[in-house]
Amino acid sequence: MKQISRRDMLTITVCFGTTIASGVVLQGTARSAELPARSGKKSKIVVTGGHPGDPEYGCGGTIARYTDLGHEVVLLYLNKGEPRGNPGKTASGTRVEEARKACDILKAHPVFADQIDGEAIVDREHYEQFRKVLEAEKPDAVFTHWPIDNHADHRAMSMLVYDAWLRMGKKFALYYYEVSNGEDTLQFAPTHYVDITETEQRKRLACYAHATQSPDKFYALQEAVTHLRGIESGHKQAEGFVRHVQSPDFRLPAEL
Ligand SMILES: [Zn+2]
Repeated sequence: MKQISRRDMLTITVCFGTTIASGVVLQGTARSAELPARSGKKSKIVVTGGHPGDPEYGCGGTIARYTDLGHEVVLLYLNKGEPRGNPGKTASGTRVEEARKACDILKAHPVFADQIDGEAIVDREHYEQFRKVLEAEKPDAVFTHWPIDNHADHRAMSMLVYDAWLRMGKKFALYYYEVSNGEDTLQFAPTHYVDITETEQRKRLACYAHATQSPDKFYALQEAVTHLRGIESGHKQAEGFVRHVQSPDFRLPAEL
């Protein structure tokens, strides 16, 4: 009987992982299929969000781990958190200032895609506009909203990123994240996890920098999720991600 080598096992694992439809938790098998690419290279990572605060709540601990390792991270927000005419209670410019403060805490940089809060548009013109914004960043990896989400701006961002990924030839790694589960993200089953036990305090500060956005309520919800993902992955707190099955290889901080 032919002995199966470790290389054969990895190949089998990769094929198996690719064959299964998404929605199945592949923790462990997916992680073992990682290839040793980009070692030593400083990478450019773009974390997109429907609003200021989304990347911080969904990926703040992972962002801090990337920037601690010297990688460049951009938080790309679809809008400035201001509805048309700014009829809400928040003074004009406040959400932008909060985003800048949150980015400083995470050692990241903010970029705004100039759509309007609550009025995200997904059409040919806006696909094109967004692709140009993303292309200018030259990302090695992009994180975006999981597409099944109760907020239209989140779904829009997910579609805009996906279209750009296709048009750019699937050149960058593509990961999905979760935010405000139950209220926003639904039916999310991570394939990958990042231990954020050491960076959770900075994530918390970055989320609380969005002081006008009820951080007591929303951080408590997100922290329940990171505790659950921690239980699943064997850490105190973790962030969970789904990697697109056709994504190029790209290491999460846990694997660097
Ligand atoms: Zn949002």
